[in-house]
Amino acid sequence: MRLLLVEDNERLGALIRDGLVAEGLAVDWCQTLEDGLSARDTAAYDLVLLDLGLPDGDGLDMVRQMRRQGDTVPILLLTARGELRDRVTGLDAGADDYLVKPFDVVELSARCRALLRRPGHRLAPILTTGDLSFDTATRQATYCGKSIDLSRREGGLLEALIRRAGSVATKESLEQALYAFNEPVTPNALEATVSRLRKRLDEAGAIDMLHTVRGLGYMLRSRRS
Ligand code: CA
Repeated sequence: MRLLLVEDNERLGALIRDGLVAEGLAVDWCQTLEDGLSARDTAAYDLVLLDLGLPDGDGLDMVRQMRRQGDTVPILLLTARGELRDRVTGLDAGADDYLVKPFDVVELSARCRALLRRPGHRLAPILTTGDLSFDTATRQATYCGKSIDLSRREGGLLEALIRRAGSVATKESLEQALYAFNEPVTPNALEATVSRLRKRLDEAGAIDMLHTVRGLGYMLRSRRS
């Protein structure tokens, strides 16, 4: 899952990004309204975290612009403005939720998970193909009910693959799901993660599920489906 964070405060931005990355999310962090808007034009996000007071404008303008363009991605406002009037304005503009600063990153990540699970959103909390499951809330993978220990990156890869189970996930789409803009991605990073994940799945008994589709990408396929 990929999040866009627009927050100009260096310390808070880094704290939020690190906290969410530790939960297995890919986070692109921008510090201005302009950068936030251009990031949104470039990548597909599952959630946007948006500060209201930005150096080059008001975050609410971004909310209004996104909703005008029919973008339905969930938006969580991060605001220093505790006033009821400001919160109502934010929700009226089309934001889904807000958090008043200062807040705990634990609460922020709980709010993010709630927004990502929301009915109507394309994400389901537990993804399944055959006997293999991945819980997007706890980041736990299981095969035939037995837990599989995965690193953060392996879990992110499994999540991306299980969402597209039965069809080919291109290398580009997987790289976009796994790596933020500012992360250096070596040419073989994805291949290395794929082979580690395949080994973990094999060890758990989920043998021959993760296929390489030459020249295209990868596919997760249940033997029963
Ligand atoms: Ca600010």
